[in-house]
Amino acid sequence: MKLEKLSVKEFLARIKSGDIDLDDFTAHVMENSKSIQKKYNPFITLVDKIQKPKKKGKLYGLPISIKDNICTKGIQTTAGSRILEGYTPPFSASCVENIVNEGAFILGKTAMDEFGFGTFSVNCAYGIPKNPLDTERSCGGSSGGASCFTAVADFPHVALAESTGGSISCPAAFTGTVGLTPTYGLVSRWGLIDYANSLDKIGLITKSVYDIALSLSIIAGNDSKDSTSLNVPAHDYTKYLKKDIKGMKIGVPKEYFEGVDGKITKVIWNAIKKLEDLGATYKEVSLPHTKYSLSAYYIIAVSEASTNLAKYAGMRYGLHLELKGNFDEYFSAVRSNGFGEEAKRRIILGTFARMAGYRDAYYLKALKVRTKIIEDFKKAFKQFDVLAAPTMPVVAPRFDEIEKLSPIENYMMDVLTVAPNLAGIPMISVPAGKVNNMPVGLHLMGDHLQEGKILQVANSFKIQKY
Ligand code: GLN
Repeated sequence: MKLEKLSVKEFLARIKSGDIDLDDFTAHVMENSKSIQKKYNPFITLVDKIQKPKKKGKLYGLPISIKDNICTKGIQTTAGSRILEGYTPPFSASCVENIVNEGAFILGKTAMDEFGFGTFSVNCAYGIPKNPLDTERSCGGSSGGASCFTAVADFPHVALAESTGGSISCPAAFTGTVGLTPTYGLVSRWGLIDYANSLDKIGLITKSVYDIALSLSIIAGNDSKDSTSLNVPAHDYTKYLKKDIKGMKIGVPKEYFEGVDGKITKVIWNAIKKLEDLGATYKEVSLPHTKYSLSAYYIIAVSEASTNLAKYAGMRYGLHLELKGNFDEYFSAVRSNGFGEEAKRRIILGTFARMAGYRDAYYLKALKVRTKIIEDFKKAFKQFDVLAAPTMPVVAPRFDEIEKLSPIENYMMDVLTVAPNLAGIPMISVPAGKVNNMPVGLHLMGDHLQEGKILQVANSFKIQKY
């Protein structure tokens, strides 16, 4: 069975017709996943036994991996943190339910920076996933396990991932996979372990644009359990892939090329020229508040994170220690033991930014900047269908390079992904070429709920079929 040559579309048709035997397939998937785990460490939990799909739905027989901050009934869910070690949710997130109800099966929970705090998946309590294209390098973060596994698995598969400030786009760019972050509120967050509620979005990492369009059609839509869920009717996103891009207007934000590696800039301009060859037109545009986006993002993200993490006290779930001393002593012992260094840094920063006396200067100001950033995008989308830019300013760095970065230098790596995440607009990273043999991602951003348009442009690349 030459599975690596099969697209998800072809696979689903063949398994439905009985041409591929589900038992043979799941046996192959398990064996292969175990050997991938040994080599690259993409999983925090790899299931021992596959739960066979009950329904012959639209995704019947398709293996799904799930980022470890998305709750899965009966499967340990840690959000990459020691403080949630052993937590086995009694329920599944809405998006997991949707996918499983269509006949997909869960393979495991993928590695991530603790609670999503990171860009390189090195802030992981359960081992660092490695980039399958060069194991000395990061596969991006925080959805690193998802991108690692998607890049290397030799069978059809879809990864459920999550982004707060770039955690889908970055790992997709670093591993040459496709990553979609939908409009904020399009996919229910019910059952997601929060990092920063006003920014978190569940999305997808896959090998092809088709796989994204198909899976998004299943996980998108209103959910009464999530009060921020948008009231959008069910939608078939695969229909956009049949359209060409003739006449589409592409904006190229000039601020997104400042400080970017020159070789990456070249790859991105080649990609934009290719879009022109396919019938689109392009023009430069300015998003003047881009330079404030990193500061505003980190103030908002850590402020929200620090309140979200207050509930981890070793009482209700996850890590428990021997009950000693008074509550404060027990609480401090659990949190000192359970949180990693980056989580502690963000709790301190976020608590500081929200303190009386500082709140107006930091948090409220950051919210105002966020509004300005949204206005920049809204103005641009009056003129353009899609904005195109590099996803990341560098290719996947080596672990020894990452070690030398200060926390601020680390945060600066998110300079191109935080603004669209603050604005809550949809974005997709697609492989556009290589620099020093490592993949470069083209970032396509659309107006709110214009997933169809970015999928249409992304698909025009006709990237790798497998
Ligand atoms: N690197 C960013 C951060 O650390 C984004 C992470 C994410 O999207 N979860 O906040």
